[in-house]
Amino acid sequence: MTTLTFESLNPATGTVVGSHHKHDAEAVREAVGRAQEAAVWWEELGHAGRRRRLLDYKAVVTRELRALAQLVHEETGKPVADATLEIVLAITHIDWAARNARKVLGPRRVSGGMIGANLAATLEYLPLGVVGIIGPWNYPVFTPMGSIAYALAAGNAVVFKPSEFTPGVGVKLAELFAEAVPERPVFQTVTGLGETGAFLARDPRVKKIAFTGSTATAKRVMAACAENLTPMVAECGGKDAFIVDDGADIEAAVDACLWGALANAGQTCVGVERVYVVDAVYEPFMRTLSERVATVKAGEHYGPITMPAQLDIIKRHIDDATKSGRAVTGGPDSVRPPYVDPVVVEDVPEDSPSVREETFGPTITVRRTKDAQEALELANDTSYGLAGTVFSGDRRRAMRLARAMRTGMAAVNSVISFAGVASLPFGGTGDSGFGRIHGADGLREFARAKSIARQR
Ligand code: NAD
Repeated sequence: MTTLTFESLNPATGTVVGSHHKHDAEAVREAVGRAQEAAVWWEELGHAGRRRRLLDYKAVVTRELRALAQLVHEETGKPVADATLEIVLAITHIDWAARNARKVLGPRRVSGGMIGANLAATLEYLPLGVVGIIGPWNYPVFTPMGSIAYALAAGNAVVFKPSEFTPGVGVKLAELFAEAVPERPVFQTVTGLGETGAFLARDPRVKKIAFTGSTATAKRVMAACAENLTPMVAECGGKDAFIVDDGADIEAAVDACLWGALANAGQTCVGVERVYVVDAVYEPFMRTLSERVATVKAGEHYGPITMPAQLDIIKRHIDDATKSGRAVTGGPDSVRPPYVDPVVVEDVPEDSPSVREETFGPTITVRRTKDAQEALELANDTSYGLAGTVFSGDRRRAMRLARAMRTGMAAVNSVISFAGVASLPFGGTGDSGFGRIHGADGLREFARAKSIARQR
């Protein structure tokens, strides 16, 4: 029974984009039941069959790129060019997962240990069955596809619960899959508020939950998963640091910093929020940053804030930062709903909420440090651990700093570049979550290792 509906709105204009079901417990149960049956058929197709079907899906999504980008633009408010980019990246995930699943998960002989003349062993990664995927609104195609494509390629059926802010995009992704694979409902979408996601997490027939969203919600989802010992991947928020070291190419560092802070209007889990600049390059970095930031425009270089409640958090952080620090660019007046213009604040105490909590907006705090070691220590002084960036003129020192950052990912002399590489695992540590999506690790997240030892 799905009697209730809710509407998705265009955050830039306030107009209604679409009306969607609030899928209740029974509707979710039915979807999982259908997925269970479809999973048997999908598993039997084998790697070669699934690869072909997933490449068909890739072709359909590619054909619909413009229409899908328009829908992402309408539901999130982000510029069409940004929406197009996230879909192109999502397509690379479908392609990579389809082409590499057999190599990563297929059966192989194992040797070593007690295996000898009398014993042979094989290892294989088998499907789990039904995988539940719960997604956010900020990258409504790229982010869930980083789980959906890998779960499908590993031989599972998927039930996807998109964010209540981007339900139309979620429905469309499953519709396009049904066009490529019409035989069985291997990939379904259930729409609704948080409770629809909770129904999915609590269903004992769901064998894994891949969650992307806030740390607070991840804890609630984990509690629901605990009822059936359902394993989970948690991709949560971040408070990423950006270190500018001696000898860094200042122009390149400023461009990267600004893009990293403004990408998706700051509504990016791996967005730049804290900047640590060594004393030797502080003045030229800040001068160039102030010049560049003055050239960016709302609606052209960045879109609106998608979720109204997020505006309150961003406003609270801007008020906090500008009261305790020194504003270089912007301030409380930068909040012009639905837009927030970039805000750069120096010398905000490290224990302030604006330095410790995820802002998810185009606000950065900047601190001068005596050297790279101090920058590293401050960068690591956070409960989060998603990603970090280092710009340096010394490649070896840059690599050492990148490795020493307590994060799942790092970029050197570039920013957020790891997210665009389908073969690289993506995920964090601490309050940023656990488990890995993308790449070979992402495929294995959605499979169970099965070892068979056989007497010769
Ligand atoms: P959110 O936590 O509010 O919601 C995420 C999803 O969980 C939504 O689909 C929501 O309906 C659902 N949900 C809410 N309550 C639930 C419950 N009790 N049980 C099951 N599902 C429930 O997050 P959001 O606002 O949509 O997304 C923004 C957050 O996501 C930010 O913190 C951002 O950093 C994070 N994020 C992380 C990554 C990553 O890969 N690490 C990527 C994108 C976004």
